[in-house]
Amino acid sequence: MYSRMLVLRFPKTEVEKPIVCYLARDFDLTFNILKATILPRKEGVMVMELSGTRKNFTLGVEYLKKHNIQVQAVGQDIKRNKKKCTHCGACIAVCPTGALSIKRPEMMVVFDHKKCSICGLCVPACPPRAMEIRTTGTPILK
Ligand code: SF4
Ligand code: SF4
Repeated sequence: MYSRMLVLRFPKTEVEKPIVCYLARDFDLTFNILKATILPRKEGVMVMELSGTRKNFTLGVEYLKKHNIQVQAVGQDIKRNKKKCTHCGACIAVCPTGALSIKRPEMMVVFDHKKCSICGLCVPACPPRAMEIRTTGTPILK
């Protein structure tokens, strides 16, 4: 099973067509729509998780692109908001990769982005919510 979080941007000519339903009917894909918005100029934006076999996933995305729908894969990144961080050290205990560690003798918590697996465990562990997950979008099947 292959699964990706996608952002779809529909041109106004396609907004009212049930194109996403055809992904299930014709390509045996399942989808979970997390957000759907119609922008003022009538373009549509939809965030969804799309799942199926790798082959069907590729065929489904090609089908969307044939209908001039822009398809982007959603990625995630994690950042530490240095203004919010109090260097309490709570995140170090939950970080499985050593991306968060204490620098001695300053007793400052340092974040090594290269070691981060983006597991997200530090986000709820941080009392002032200094660890933030950010969502990015990159074109898929260009
Ligand atoms: S838990 Fe949050 S506030 Fe505490 S050191 Fe980690 S990032 Fe900073
Ligand atoms: S997201 Fe996971 S690996 Fe990255 S700093 Fe937080 S706990 Fe560590």
